Amino acid sequence: MKLQKLQLQSNNISTSIGIKIFLLSLFLSYGLLFADAHIFVYHRFGDSRYPSTNTTIKELKEEFEYLKNRDYKVIKLETLVNALKNHKDIDDRWVVLTIDDNFKSFYQNALEIFKKYHYPFSLFVYVQATEDKYPDYTSWKELKEISKYGSIEFHSYSHPHMTQKSNKYLREDFKRGLNLIKKRVNITPKYFAYPYGEYDKRVQKITKEFGFEAIINQNIGAISRYSDIFSLDRDALVGKSSLKRKLRYKELHLNLIEPKEYPKNGILKKIMAKLYDKSIKSAKYYLSGYGWSKVEVKDGLIDKKIDKKLLKKRNRLIIKIGNKIKTKLLIKDRYGTK
Ligand SMILES: [Zn+2]
Repeated sequence: MKLQKLQLQSNNISTSIGIKIFLLSLFLSYGLLFADAHIFVYHRFGDSRYPSTNTTIKELKEEFEYLKNRDYKVIKLETLVNALKNHKDIDDRWVVLTIDDNFKSFYQNALEIFKKYHYPFSLFVYVQATEDKYPDYTSWKELKEISKYGSIEFHSYSHPHMTQKSNKYLREDFKRGLNLIKKRVNITPKYFAYPYGEYDKRVQKITKEFGFEAIINQNIGAISRYSDIFSLDRDALVGKSSLKRKLRYKELHLNLIEPKEYPKNGILKKIMAKLYDKSIKSAKYYLSGYGWSKVEVKDGLIDKKIDKKLLKKRNRLIIKIGNKIKTKLLIKDRYGTK
């Protein structure tokens, strides 16, 4: 009788430990399931002539110290893309650093600092500026040296506003640029970043023809396991931007039903989006030129009549709930989006 009681007790204890372990693993996997990494982009370094695209050396060092002291892991873009491709867990502390336009100021003022912290990076090259020796850009020789510390990626040959160029122009631009990188430094880029962060459905389709493993945009946001590897959000760290604030953003999981593209007559009729999280009651949206507005959410659905004329060439529609954010870019395409 006593023995039976003892066994019963020990069974209870092991069951309760089992439940605790189960709950803990559930909690941990929940954390990983909703973890978000961040991709950032820099342009110029220590170049006060262009404050809106510049990061001072002091700012850069402060940002790197912040990342180091808070245990952020600066990883290769490749590591993040491979994790997404293989449906692996995304780490909340992952940070990917990218640099657009291979300005000479990166080579002259910042490369040493990246090396000192052992932070990998991906440099998106503006090929024509390099090939034609524009004074502000690195040479091929410098790019070859840079490639020892980070990856060399593609940012187009002529750095066009892609939605303003024909399919033929874009295909020729890409062929020319990729061939030159191969010829001059023997590198085949794996990733592409849109010049000016501008793209739409047509431009994305042409870009995908070139077999890039991932495509990076320039929208505020974060990367979760649900992110589209052909449209990875990337936030700019230039001017008076705050790394700390940007690290707080998470990806808002939603299915944007309307608008899919820049509306025909430039009038945005409505916003319709299905949120993955049905418990949300209200959201905020931002439209370029109009600022932020509140919007009601019913049964996980945003369905809002807008009827507003888009004011800019490049319009951003941002939907935000707390620190969760998603951007849709609306640009008028000269050649249609079909
Ligand atoms: Zn650029």
